[in-house]
Amino acid sequence: MENIQMLLKQGAVGKPCAPVVNVGDKVKRGQLIATPTGLGANVHSSISGEVIQINDEMIVIKPDAEQSKDYVKIEKGSNLEMIKEAGVIGQGGAGFPTYIKIYNGQEDKPVLDHGYILVNASECEPGLAHNIAQIDEDPEALLRGIHYLMEIAGADKGIIAIKKKHRGTIEKLDALLKDDPAIERHLLPDIYPMGEERAVVRECLGIELEPEKLPSAANAVVINSETVYSCVAAIEDQKPCIDKWITVRGMLKGGSEAHVFKNVPVGISVGTLINKAGGADEECGYGEIIMGGAFTGKSTTLDAPITKTTGALLLTRPFRDLKGAKVGILVCACGGNLERMEELVEKYNGTVAQVCYCKQAKEMPNGTRKCERPGNCPGQVQNNLDFKKAGCEYVIIGNCSDCSNTVMASGPKMGLKVLHMTDLAMMAVGHPLYRTLRVSKQVDQDLDVVDNVEDNETVQ
Ligand code: SF4
Repeated sequence: MENIQMLLKQGAVGKPCAPVVNVGDKVKRGQLIATPTGLGANVHSSISGEVIQINDEMIVIKPDAEQSKDYVKIEKGSNLEMIKEAGVIGQGGAGFPTYIKIYNGQEDKPVLDHGYILVNASECEPGLAHNIAQIDEDPEALLRGIHYLMEIAGADKGIIAIKKKHRGTIEKLDALLKDDPAIERHLLPDIYPMGEERAVVRECLGIELEPEKLPSAANAVVINSETVYSCVAAIEDQKPCIDKWITVRGMLKGGSEAHVFKNVPVGISVGTLINKAGGADEECGYGEIIMGGAFTGKSTTLDAPITKTTGALLLTRPFRDLKGAKVGILVCACGGNLERMEELVEKYNGTVAQVCYCKQAKEMPNGTRKCERPGNCPGQVQNNLDFKKAGCEYVIIGNCSDCSNTVMASGPKMGLKVLHMTDLAMMAVGHPLYRTLRVSKQVDQDLDVVDNVEDNETVQ
């Protein structure tokens, strides 16, 4: 087994934790190795071994020859205390500490006023399969977890938001929910984005929140389904948050079907997990490895570590060479940010000639962007006109299903060749490309459409 790298900052939000071990210390699987210095959550070792390096970013642990599935248990306490001690953070997104989401520090005044725990089981990013696989394996635990969270947060109702295409999983849940009137499920369409917190609130409760608002403004807390399971593990098994379910998919030997890995130790490398999935397809090669989903993930390297928030590793098709052609970038609040889009243009060997933002991608005080109405297009003709004026031959977009459809309504007619930031990942996993809603609504893999798009660059 390789050395593992436990990052001191496991998610996008918060500050790096401070190590509580020293180089040379022997640690056991589950042992606390770092604690928060501000917004953050405890970090525990996912293996037994010896600390061989500590720097500003990580603690490196050399594994013992013998590893066990056992772990050092967190201390018993209230359910909230155990979630906090276990270092549970949001595992479907930015990694916000879960205990802060569900508790405001006031014993007599819970965060919700008879409100809602909304479970995001949308597995919103296309091609991922680990969230649904986890629910399929143990739907009862999901319901127990929702009840734990409802009690802590002061919710009267739990709602599981799941895409209607997951018929088998829905049947399993329905069989349990008929005896559990406090929890219901809400069916989501198979479009992107559906997992964004305010989209979940809108779909489940019919409340449209402004970008600055949190789900608490709708008397709700949104929790990713895997995070619920980690809370259950903390409460029932005294287990720290040290393992992760992950989808590995794309340009792999043996085909593009999803490999779902259960309980992957946090800190192992991307390369190790890809090898476990059969290894990269050497004959066809790959373009890049995306850590996370194709919309919101980032490119990564073989030696990078898995974190508590890693949902997927996607190996994309190789980049085609645009030979320096002028490319316009259209940034969506729910897709890649400008930096990520510029990276893609560089990998395509294009030249950025114009940058536009979807007009609903509102800039937040911290510089990030949030969509005013996720998934409901405000129109894109003006952006296409600007791209044309700037002399763009290509446009690369990161838009939602609805806006991609709108870009396609005018872009190709103006002579713009449209690429979507997810194209090479979608081709690699056999998913229809994000172009027209007619295409994106096809749930089944449709390689004819994909190949057609690759040849002609657009679907019209
Ligand atoms: S409306 Fe615009 S900003 Fe919002 S999700 Fe669609 S493309 Fe993104």
